[in-house]
Amino acid sequence: MRFLVTGGAGFIGSHLTEYLLRIGNEVLVLDDLSTGAQRNLEFASEEPGLQIAEGSVLDSELVNRCASGVDGIFHLAAAVGTFTISQKTLESLQTNIHGTETVLDAACRHQRPVLVASTSEVYGRNTKIGLTEDDDLVLGTPLHSRWSYAEAKALDETLAYAHAAEHGLRAVIARLFNTVGPGQNSRYGMVIPRFVEQALAGEALTVFGDGQQIRCFCHVHDVVPALVALLRDGRAYGQVFNVGSSEQVTIEELARRVIAITGSSSDITHVPYEDVFGPGYQDTLRRVPDCGKVRAQIGFSPERNLDQIIESVAAQARAAPKPALKSGG
Ligand code: UDP
Repeated sequence: MRFLVTGGAGFIGSHLTEYLLRIGNEVLVLDDLSTGAQRNLEFASEEPGLQIAEGSVLDSELVNRCASGVDGIFHLAAAVGTFTISQKTLESLQTNIHGTETVLDAACRHQRPVLVASTSEVYGRNTKIGLTEDDDLVLGTPLHSRWSYAEAKALDETLAYAHAAEHGLRAVIARLFNTVGPGQNSRYGMVIPRFVEQALAGEALTVFGDGQQIRCFCHVHDVVPALVALLRDGRAYGQVFNVGSSEQVTIEELARRVIAITGSSSDITHVPYEDVFGPGYQDTLRRVPDCGKVRAQIGFSPERNLDQIIESVAAQARAAPKPALKSGG
């Protein structure tokens, strides 16, 4: 089969492209190379099944052309990373809202199934342990740009539902919980590549706030097959699924584990949020998924634990010169 992967040169998108090619599909990547990079797809430069279109998901003519020639669409193109969102709030909103609108319109017009990558960020400040798909989104005031990513992604989800309900679009939504792994770029704020890079350089690991915020990290190699299984599962259309790990860790503990696993002599330093993001920044204090629904649907069960994730990120960071790292998140 032939699939369109928007954002296919980004971190998750390039891993997805690699997986799709490996299991015998053809892939058309659409990417504007903003946070993604051509070098993320170098592994397949000789691969006849890969085609790359450089362009934006805001270009409806291009998106329509791409959608017309494929069997299914993975929509991953987005502005990502807390640094990107806080520094380029308006541009990020436009990409994340209008880009998805354009892709959904094209999927509808050409009657192609589509998977929309959403985010656990939509749960906002809902700190329930074991968030389920129908739990409330608890977002702070729209005056904080922190929540603009969640607002845009929540709107994307609603757009997909409305297309499914009113036009019969075969759309499925995956809410990804802190997907990480080798090749993720530290530049956009993601914590694991930052900590690993700091530890390997012997620099202090920068824990934001008091470090008691909790996350669950899931390896991209566990996430990517789940995305493919969801798009292929006709019973999943019109639904949303959490995709992540339930292994909880505080960011302070994460920093300690990165130091231990890399054998680094780095210290840990605490940095106030306002020094990084400006005044009034609000973090998500705890984000823990219940993945019972996706487990029941496709048998999803992550194989790699946090220590293995840190080891794989560190191994690649040691092996690859910095510019070769995959971008985006
Ligand atoms: N974080 C940190 N130091 C860093 C980068 C991030 O302490 O250098 C924290 C961040 O404030 C958040 C957590 O690590 O509480 C996860 O951040 P990330 O940007 O990876 O994902 P998020 O869960 O915020 O989407």
